[in-house]
Amino acid sequence: MNSLEYVPVPAFEDNYIWLVSDGRDAFAVDPGDAAPVRAYLAKRGWRLTAILLTHHHQDHVGGVVELLRTQPASEPLEVYGPAGESIDRLTKRLRGGDRVRVESPAAEFAVLDVPGHTSGHIAYFQAADPRGTPHVFCGDTLFACGCGRLFEGTPAQMLDSLDSLAALPGATEVHCAHEYTLSNIKFALACEPGNAELQAWRDEALALRARNEPTLPTTIAHERAVNPFLRADVVAVRDTLAEQLHETVPDRLTSFTLMREWKNRFR
Ligand code: ZN
Ligand code: FE
Repeated sequence: MNSLEYVPVPAFEDNYIWLVSDGRDAFAVDPGDAAPVRAYLAKRGWRLTAILLTHHHQDHVGGVVELLRTQPASEPLEVYGPAGESIDRLTKRLRGGDRVRVESPAAEFAVLDVPGHTSGHIAYFQAADPRGTPHVFCGDTLFACGCGRLFEGTPAQMLDSLDSLAALPGATEVHCAHEYTLSNIKFALACEPGNAELQAWRDEALALRARNEPTLPTTIAHERAVNPFLRADVVAVRDTLAEQLHETVPDRLTSFTLMREWKNRFR
């Protein structure tokens, strides 16, 4: 097969479980629920060969036991996940710097440590699919126009993690685990109302959601241009934070920290 298909399968309210397939075999990223995965696999006639997990939250790992239970005994499933978190049924425990080779569909990943949302959160970077396009599966770390909440990490850790994702090639397709784009764009516009690319993206994203289509994947280049959490050092963003929050914003980490706190209470 000379290409791979990357499909966001909707689950729960706003999760996406990504399936990657060569048209015969498939692996699943963060299957929080088994039913929509099994249903989609059956619809396409794909066989499940592996599971990749980014972090321990239930909406990302909750379907693993059931997927293992319903897997034919003759087709064992590898379950990859972070070594630094307590997750049942992992067969391969990964740390930043490790490499993963899924056999079928053939795909190779570099593992990135991206703590912040959870303390052991990892991301999977595929430098090139069969067409040469890079991909990253980043769980709840980087979202389209946003980032994950800091449940277990510090702002400094999250900023480092986002920096390592932002340093990936601009063409990298970013496969986030939630459809949060519209509410993230609303907040991003509050941070940087004059960003023309962001304004254009709002119109596009609204049109996509009106047709019930995913706004993902996004790309690293696009996120660098519109995502306020990757733009904590932009003067316009820092000026907004200073003005809205009546704070001084002496450096990038303060800017990021204030922005994350503001987002937590933003409506
Ligand atoms: Zn999470
Ligand atoms: Fe989540």
